[in-house]
Amino acid sequence: MNPELRQGPLTEQWAIIAPERAARPIEVHPDGHAVPIVCPFCPGHEAQTPPALRSYPDGPGWRVRVVPNKYPALRLAGNPAPHGDEFGTRSDGVGAHEVIIDSPVHAHSLTDLPAEQVRLLLSVYADRLRELRRDGRLAYGLVFKNVGAAAGASLEHTHSQVIALPRVPAFVRQELITARAYHRRHGRCLCCDLLDREVRDGRRLVLESRHFAVLTPFASRMPYEMLLLPRRHAARFEELPEDECADLAGALRSALLKLERAADRPAYNYLIHTAPFTGPEPESFHWHLEVLPRTTTLAGFEWATGVTINPLPPEQAAAQLREA
Ligand SMILES: [Zn+2]
Ligand SMILES: [Zn+2]
Ligand SMILES: [Zn+2]
Repeated sequence: MNPELRQGPLTEQWAIIAPERAARPIEVHPDGHAVPIVCPFCPGHEAQTPPALRSYPDGPGWRVRVVPNKYPALRLAGNPAPHGDEFGTRSDGVGAHEVIIDSPVHAHSLTDLPAEQVRLLLSVYADRLRELRRDGRLAYGLVFKNVGAAAGASLEHTHSQVIALPRVPAFVRQELITARAYHRRHGRCLCCDLLDREVRDGRRLVLESRHFAVLTPFASRMPYEMLLLPRRHAARFEELPEDECADLAGALRSALLKLERAADRPAYNYLIHTAPFTGPEPESFHWHLEVLPRTTTLAGFEWATGVTINPLPPEQAAAQLREA
């Protein structure tokens, strides 16, 4: 069965039904125990992954390698048009699912890589987003990273993923709506104004670099949640100029190092929210990167309500991260 997008009648939430995902090898299990496997991401084992979409640089001696996900959640085939009735809507799971092998070194976290390697990796993220945008059938490209079993990583070797979707996911749509409403009211960008205010206030500020600031959000969903915002207003991450990319590598790496010192190397996810591929340039959107550490688990209340319970005030988290 090819992957399918389904939308239920009651909550109107989408789910991807992807049975092939069940076949993927699991090296690190959620309870922490690891099963030793031959790492398919280490140099010399390239034949264990599907052929590379791109290598940087091309051929042997690669520093970053991009491969299609062997167990994809979505595929570039079929018809993305939804059809159904009041009891459920479905469409072919048209999209792309790529794995970016961050480094030839068998490292576990981004912080194990030098800043220059992180810079190259970020430029590869931008490259992939620009390429997927050209396909024309896709509405959104999401770059994310899972580190540690508790954050959903099934393989240890540091890697990132890109999933391109045929429609804009609900969280991003909500951010677009909120940003647009603020822009209509004030003629300015919500995130630009937020950044100014948080930098002046300082209580939730973790670090500043030349082009970026990292803060703990006012309504942080979990301990040590971080929001990385570019100082210069831009809707699209994938159009980041080179000097800003190098600065971003430093800021992201420092923020994650602080997190690992403050919280004893927790599992974490990060994700990039950039503007959608399709539709008019949403000038009010301000791209950003969110870091979601996993020191607590989502339980019944969170699943039932969408409201998270965070035991660490973001002001305290920021103070700990600043000092770490
Ligand atoms: Zn490896
Ligand atoms: Zn802005
Ligand atoms: Zn966001």
